[in-house]
Amino acid sequence: MQHSIAITPNYISGQPANGQTRHLDIISPVDGQHLSKVGLSSQQDLDKAVTAAKKAFPDWSQRTLKQRVQVFYNFRQLLIDNLEILGRMIHLENGKTIGEAKAEVMKGIELTEFACSLPQFINDEIQIVSQGIECRTTHVPIGVVASITPFNFPAMVPLWTIPNALALGNCMILKPSEKTPMTALKIAELLTEAGLPDGVFNVINGDKEIVEAICDHPDIAAVSFVGSTTVAKIVYKRATSHLKRCMAMGGAKNHLIVLPDASLAMAENIVASMAGCAGQRCMAASAMVAVGNTDKMIQRICEEAKKWEAGDNLGSVISIAAKKRIEGYITEAEKMGAEILVDGRNTIPKGKENGAYVGVTIIDKVTPAMKIAQEEVFGPVLVIMRTNDVDEAIRIENASNYGNAASVFTQNGSLANYIMDRVSAGMVGVNVGVPVPREPFSFGGWNESRFGVNDITGKSSISFWTKIKKRTTKWNAEDWKDWMS
Ligand code: NAD
Repeated sequence: MQHSIAITPNYISGQPANGQTRHLDIISPVDGQHLSKVGLSSQQDLDKAVTAAKKAFPDWSQRTLKQRVQVFYNFRQLLIDNLEILGRMIHLENGKTIGEAKAEVMKGIELTEFACSLPQFINDEIQIVSQGIECRTTHVPIGVVASITPFNFPAMVPLWTIPNALALGNCMILKPSEKTPMTALKIAELLTEAGLPDGVFNVINGDKEIVEAICDHPDIAAVSFVGSTTVAKIVYKRATSHLKRCMAMGGAKNHLIVLPDASLAMAENIVASMAGCAGQRCMAASAMVAVGNTDKMIQRICEEAKKWEAGDNLGSVISIAAKKRIEGYITEAEKMGAEILVDGRNTIPKGKENGAYVGVTIIDKVTPAMKIAQEEVFGPVLVIMRTNDVDEAIRIENASNYGNAASVFTQNGSLANYIMDRVSAGMVGVNVGVPVPREPFSFGGWNESRFGVNDITGKSSISFWTKIKKRTTKWNAEDWKDWMS
């Protein structure tokens, strides 16, 4: 199966659209092979996409919700039919294993199923509020909206927004990561094949420049962003300065609080959380706060860590630059006095010498003041901070600027609840390494892991993608008499 394409184009009005003057090379982090080039769009490219979306909006938005979701029933089947192709494409451009890549497409299928169920979720209200007077609400689409996405989930994160926003009647411009544009193009082609009218969904490739143009564009009504906290802040400020609706999901530093009574079998779960997708998940375990004597658990974690083999069940990170950055964090922690229990630096799998691999790394004796304890490393690295006090463990978690996820590992239910009530994170778990809520529950962090009020998936996303119209009707009860006579 051939996946390389000379230039990965934009996708406007149901057609590939080329013609950019600036390009970036797409190099596979799996083995360093050249996959494609991607065009960096200009303001004119964006204008064309917005014009196409505006043209499609009147017809698309006036269809009923039940009519619109029919496209997503077809799209869901096409995702299933193309699972192998998408899995391989994501593997090549992102570096995660084919199994992980297919798992994210499966999650995309689940997200699409939620969109198909929207007619059951949208219950508009109607009430007789006084004699002869009726109030009712209707959910109305916003118009042309934008979704800006990161490299780490080339299918799943775009599918956090596409099915719901479109099913609810909006037309969209997707700006995927310039590091993983091929999957976005495939999604666009499948949407057209599923019967989506031209212009309802468009893809614009590019970098910082085009993101700024999206935030500034007068005909884009809402911007959804997923990426690092630094850029989330820029996008949130810029889009809202133009009075647009914006939700911006940022980075993370997720804490696991591990108590002495935690089941040792959970070590596998803990390592899967920090090492899955090579640690490049905003829900990955990153900092473990070990309370009391947890030596046996730490030993088991190290044994589990050694079962992950780079280039086999452990995928690559996104680029050589990311590998160097991650290894830099490990080396600096070591210099500051941390103890490297399992060292993933200088990992070079045989036959993949030009790939970007970091082995699973476990670092003990980290202190909360160290950079590696505070910043998002975004690689397969787990730092361990030790304390003898549960409240101190909570204080360490609470001191983080982020707040995506936190999990506690214990067999004591009341202590688990005590900790869950006090951690400062939007998604929390007990004996769960990756506490991602499943639909209809929604996905979203707190603090600097999310700007804006809405969560991005599930029921919470409905209010982001729609406006509520409140209609009040009064009929004069006597008027019909004249008309009847
Ligand atoms: P990134 O912030 O570098 O890029 C995200 C998007 O912003 C891309 O489309 C990129 O082209 C654009 N961009 C990059 N720099 C920009 C700038 N200066 N101005 C305007 N736009 C810019 O993120 P990434 O490296 O692609 O993805 C990894 C990050 O995403 C991690 O921090 C991870 O935690 C985060 N993430 C968060 C969630 C969540 O739900 N909170 C989910 C997935 C990923």
